Amino acid sequence: MNQQQAGTAGGYGNSNTFVPPPRQDMEYICADCGAKNEIKSREPIRCRECGHRIMYKKRTKRMVQFEAR
Ligand SMILES: [Zn+2]
Repeated sequence: MNQQQAGTAGGYGNSNTFVPPPRQDMEYICADCGAKNEIKSREPIRCRECGHRIMYKKRTKRMVQFEAR
């Protein structure tokens, strides 16, 4: 289910071919139920198990909180 798009739109205005680094999934730990969630950077942070929106980044162990709207 990898969705990779080649950034070859050709609108960079530079002769250099700029290839953006691949986005890696970040691992988050739900602050409520402790479930591990792999969430892409573009996706909203939300626990798949319980729907909680407060997640811990697994790498930095910083708390990332998103207010529910
Ligand atoms: Zn959860």
